[in-house]
Amino acid sequence: GFNCGIVGLPNVGKSTLFNALTATQAAQAANYPFCTIEPNVGRVSVPDPRLEILAKVEGSAKIVPTQLEFVDIAGLVKGASKGEGLGNQFLGNIREVDAIAQVLRCFEDSDVTHVAGHVDPVRDAEIIETELMLADLESLEKRLPNLQKKAKSGDKEAGAEAVIMERIVAALREGKPARTVAFSNEELPTVRRMQLLTAKPQMFVLNVDEGSAAAGNAVSAKAAEYARSVGAPFVIISAAIEAEVAQLPAADQGDYLESLGLHDTGLNRVIAAGYELLDLVTFFTIGPKEAHAWTVKRGSKAPQAAGAIHTDFEKGFIRAETIGYDDFVACNGEQGAKDAGKMRLEGKDYVVKDGDIFHFRFNV
Ligand code: GDP
Repeated sequence: GFNCGIVGLPNVGKSTLFNALTATQAAQAANYPFCTIEPNVGRVSVPDPRLEILAKVEGSAKIVPTQLEFVDIAGLVKGASKGEGLGNQFLGNIREVDAIAQVLRCFEDSDVTHVAGHVDPVRDAEIIETELMLADLESLEKRLPNLQKKAKSGDKEAGAEAVIMERIVAALREGKPARTVAFSNEELPTVRRMQLLTAKPQMFVLNVDEGSAAAGNAVSAKAAEYARSVGAPFVIISAAIEAEVAQLPAADQGDYLESLGLHDTGLNRVIAAGYELLDLVTFFTIGPKEAHAWTVKRGSKAPQAAGAIHTDFEKGFIRAETIGYDDFVACNGEQGAKDAGKMRLEGKDYVVKDGDIFHFRFNV
């Protein structure tokens, strides 16, 4: 599965958001096994309106959305890269996630202390960015001399890696995160292996007071401006409201949200933004028993998609019977699409498109 780490300074609302995410899902998806894998890891269903349409067209008995994991990563404070707070443990946890959702406190509440004295989300974002950059810099500066030595003695691969690393180190020393460095497609796998914290895609969750959930406030406007300036997506929510909504029966949630001027839960927007951030594509398997959404990384080929369902499907992959989403709906389901000649046979080099409906043929 793919995951998104929730990070932020203490008392910004991370746990409130995480708990709401998991509680809402548990309430809304009663027919779907929600699981909290570990105390700080929650798996959520990714809402996708196409799934219901597909299920209706094909008469599927059950809907199974694709899933995303959120990891509540507590413990970041100023000085984490030097081992303050949970320091290294915290940074190690971030290394494991595919993307970062950084919660920024945009609510005033004199009962909730702010570690840095007063509410200033841009400063908070910069504190965290600095810690992550220092951690990356330290880890690269440890590895670089050895690579350069190997390169000097004629190791071409080490040489290529050293050149990339030198570029990243130069950027970090200028106070620029690794994600701002441009890499070619050939360089990307090497960069990924470096497991850099500041190369991970990042979004911001602007946590506002209960009264500002619909439109945001002056503080979140500054945070939004900052997010735009660094090219990061952002979502405005009130974690406190989400926590309340999560306690309501699913049937009452919509009305309550409407009364606050909201059309969807902030959580659904966080999930959608997180999914988008990870650069994933969704494909479907649709039958009378279930309409099931699945996820692969963009650029994945058909056998990898088969492997997302079962490793045996990937090993024995023969071909994928493929129908595009629009064709499937326009032709009223699988049989109609087949009759209209809209089913394609795709082989092992086929790159999965978002919305593809697959039947995999494989040897066992
Ligand atoms: P964490 O340390 O980042 O995990 O922060 P918590 O989720 O534990 O929240 C810290 C405190 O802020 C708790 O007392 C929350 O109830 C409060 N809090 C979180 N979100 C909001 C919000 O949107 N509005 C208000 N007023 N309080 C909030």
